[in-house]
This record gives sequence, structure tokens and C-alpha cells, in this order.
Amino acid sequence: MRLHFPTLNPVARISLGLVALLVSLLMAADLAFGLIPDRTALARQVRQQISESLAVQAATLLQSGDTRTLQSTLDSVIQRNTEVRSLAVRQQGGVIIAVAGEHGTWWHPPEDGSSTLTQVRVPVLADNKPWGEVELAFKPVLPETFGEWATYPTVVAMLTISVGGFLAFYLYLRRVLEYLDPAKAIPDRVRTAFDTLAEGVLVLDKQGRVVLANKAFRHFHPSAQEDMTGRAVTELTWLVEGFHVTPEHPYPWVTAMERRSNSGDQTLELARPGEEEPLRAIVGCSPILDGHGRLRGCLVNFSDVTMLHRINDQLLGTLVDLEASKEEIRRQNEELHRLATRDPMTGCLNRRAFFGAADPLYEQLKAEGEEVCCIMSDIDHFKSFNDRYGHAVGDQVIKSVAKCLGTDLREVDMLCRYGGEEFCIMLPGATPEQAVEVAERLRLAIETNAGAAVRDIPGIRITSSFGVASIRGGAKDPAELIDQADNALYQSKQTGRNRVSLWAGERSVGGDAEVPELAHH
Ligand code: GH3
Ligand code: MG
Ligand code: MG
Repeated sequence: MRLHFPTLNPVARISLGLVALLVSLLMAADLAFGLIPDRTALARQVRQQISESLAVQAATLLQSGDTRTLQSTLDSVIQRNTEVRSLAVRQQGGVIIAVAGEHGTWWHPPEDGSSTLTQVRVPVLADNKPWGEVELAFKPVLPETFGEWATYPTVVAMLTISVGGFLAFYLYLRRVLEYLDPAKAIPDRVRTAFDTLAEGVLVLDKQGRVVLANKAFRHFHPSAQEDMTGRAVTELTWLVEGFHVTPEHPYPWVTAMERRSNSGDQTLELARPGEEEPLRAIVGCSPILDGHGRLRGCLVNFSDVTMLHRINDQLLGTLVDLEASKEEIRRQNEELHRLATRDPMTGCLNRRAFFGAADPLYEQLKAEGEEVCCIMSDIDHFKSFNDRYGHAVGDQVIKSVAKCLGTDLREVDMLCRYGGEEFCIMLPGATPEQAVEVAERLRLAIETNAGAAVRDIPGIRITSSFGVASIRGGAKDPAELIDQADNALYQSKQTGRNRVSLWAGERSVGGDAEVPELAHH
């Protein structure tokens, strides 16, 4: 059977060993120098003295024939000496003259007639001739029962030394070990092995005191260069301040030792004196358990990700720049597109963009049998603005009219600056009636508002004439539809200007708000 003591800690085991050593030494010293008095020799001496003096006394009393005093002497001997069990005076031939105690029970005469430690016989002489003997039965010198052994002084002394010694050693060793440098507990080759690791490593005991800090860890911070062994990790303020701990996320070593399993990763941001950038590390902690699954401490590992962070930051910066330049490109593209498709003065579509969009749209609407109309508009007597107020005012008039035209259109409608002061509007989905209505609204808007927008010439009156054509007129493409609207516009000019005309076959109809086909207009 194999014996082992799983609950005995090292301190207790060492104490036990020391006690065993102490007891052995005491025993050896006793053997060599007789430290403990020899009770057997002492007893033999005492017993011999008692027996001999009793024999002398008995001889005297027998000679005087005083058997009564002899009996009382025997009684007093047995009373005074607890070690004497029984005694008797026997005449040669075996006749007992006097007896005390249970002599029959305790007296076992030794075979060879000599005395032993418990059975003592002393010859009694009468007139220098053997008369008989005194027999004494003593108790054994050494204890016999367990109770006697337990109270036997040598045993008590040894037990006291053992128990007392064990307690004293235990307490002393425990105290001494607390003060002992825990660093000594780690062999140099282990230390060197840890130093070869690129990761920072901190070994803590279960009280959270530093047992080992490897080379990589010592390079983390100037304060890490001093000897940290034996110090509580929480005393290393420069280190613990770098963690973001909350009640839910305590220090990794706390988590690992409480749960006895690996803590999750935590980030550490160590501010370093004289350096702008903090050291960043990912910190994890695993518990250290002994062969019996008991917690001995933990191993905290720090992997330095400062460089990774720096590169990441640079990458992020590059991404932001990239995003900005992408936005700039997008903006410039938009501008390019605007420049390519819009008329710079009015912001209306240019002819190229207008036809680019109108052609396919017209094709599609025609195929689907949908409605579409076109409005052509031309500023009345525009030349006179140029002539009277100059080209700049003329430009202002064009801009003002364009603004009036653009304000009231839908998202799907397309407004194009068709010529100098001519505009073309495409109205997908609009019936001729609706288109005439829109044109009329625009005409009124120009008549009412366009003049006021030309600030330089107060009270200037601006009007435009309109021509409307619908897909119903049978135009095959936008160009033909525009042609038809232009014809209607010519009609408006002919009939007095500032009016809307709808193209109706060869002859456009209209005039100031008079479109014969439209009952409501
Ligand atoms: P009507 O009522 O018959 O249209 O008379 P009108 O004076 O408007 O006659 P017309 O349409 O023939 O005149 C167009 C004039 O517009 C000719 C040209 O000098 C002028 N013009 C064309 N483009 C611009 C421009 O961008 N700016 C300015 N200021 N004038 C322009
Ligand atoms: Mg014109
Ligand atoms: Mg004109």
C-alpha cells in the first residue's frame, strides 16, 4: 500500500522531519550520556535496600520471638511502599511465619533461587546459620498497561517534546518562509527560460505577490527595472493604472485566480515617461495549479501591440485621407458632370444633355403609349433689353426668366436652355391640357415676378411667349416635337406675344389664354 499525505503542506512536513530528528538526537544523547535516569537500576537499588533492612529487622525480631511485631512490620512495609505487592517470612522447609499482601498470587520464586527485579529473596540467619528467608514481590519497574505507559515520565517527556517541538517548528517556519525571498523559489534555468520569451511574463503567487518578472516585462516601463519580487502587484501603480477595471471586469489575475481558469484578454495602456505614445498590450492570465489541483498562483502574459496599433492608426489615417480624396473626386466628377450637362449661366440642361435624356425617354413613352408634351418659350422683344440696358442686363433677364421657369416644375420635367433666350421644357406624362396649364402658369410667373428680379432696372417688364406640342400630334422624336412647339410659339409671337399656343396640325391655335380645344382654359 502506498501512503501519502495529500493534506500535509510542506511546512508541516518539514516540521515533522525536524521533530523526528530532535527526538532521535535526544535518544542518541541519552544512549551516550544517560540523560534520562535509569529507573531500573534505581529501582533495583531501592528494592535491595528495603529487602535487606527488612531481613535484618526480621532476624532480630525472630530471635526475640516477637512474631507479632514481625507481622506489623510486614504490614507497615506494604503500606508505605506502593511498589511492594506482597511479602512473607518463610522458614527453611517452607513454613511461612508471617505474610502481608496476596503472597500466593504475586510470589513466583525464580527457578535458580536467585532474586529478580520483581521477586526478591533475602536470606535470614540465626546464629550465623541459615534460618529461612524474606520474600518480597514487587511491582514491575516498567509500565504494563497503556494507561501506565501513557503516564510514564519518559513517554510524557518525549510526547511533550514532539508535540511542542512540532508546533514551535511549524509556527517558526511559516513565519520565516513569509520573509524569505520568494524569488529564490524559482530556479535560475526557469528564470532564463522566461527571459528568452518575447512576451512579457509576470508570475504571481496566490496572494498576488510578484514571484517573477521576465526580461521583456522589465523593459515595459522604467519602474519595472527595479526588483519587484515579493511586492504585491497592486502596489505597482504604474502598471495597475494602465488597466480599465470595473466591478464586472476586475484585474485579469483576480479573474483567473477566482475562476481558476484563463481570464479573457484585456487591454493595457501604459503611459511611459518621456514618450508620447503609450505602450499598448493585450493581457491574459492563467492560473497555476499544483498536482492536487490547488491554486498556487498565476501567470500573467503581456503581448506588446504598440507597433500593431501604430500601423493600424496609420492605416486608419490613410483610409480617412482616401475617403476624403474619394469625396473630392466625387465632388469634382459632379462638377464636371454639371459643367458637361448644364448651361453655366442659368443652370438649365444644355442641348446635348437634354437630347441625351429626352431621346430614349421619348422612345420609351411612345412605345408604352404614354403622354408627353413639350413647351417652347422665348422672351419677348429681348433684343430691346440688350439694346437699351446693355448685354449684362440682358443676361440678368435671361437668368431671371430661367429661375421663374425652373421653380414650378416637377422632378421628372426637363428644362433646357435651347438657344440665347429660348427655353425648352419636356413634361413626361402630361396631357396637352395639363401642359398648356403649366405653360400658362409659367407665363404668368414671368410676367409677375421676372421683372422684379432684375434689380438694376426697377419696373422693368419682362414677358415670354409659349408654344406647346403633345405626343398626340404624332411627332416621331423630341426634335420633331420641339419643332411643333416652336411653330406654336411662332403663333404666339404672331398673335401679340405674352401668350400660350398649342400646336394643332399645320396651324397652331392659341393666343392670350385662348386655346379653343381646352374648355377649361
Ligand atoms: P421677339 O419678341 O420676336 O423674340 O424679339 P426679340 O428681340 O427677342 O428677337 P430675337 O429673338 O430675334 O432676339 C434674340 C437676341 O438675343 C439676339 C441676341 O443678340 C440676343 N442674345 C442671344 N443670346 C444672348 C445672351 O446670352 N445674352 C444676351 N444679353 N443677349 C443674347
Ligand atoms: Mg429668340
Ligand atoms: Mg425673343
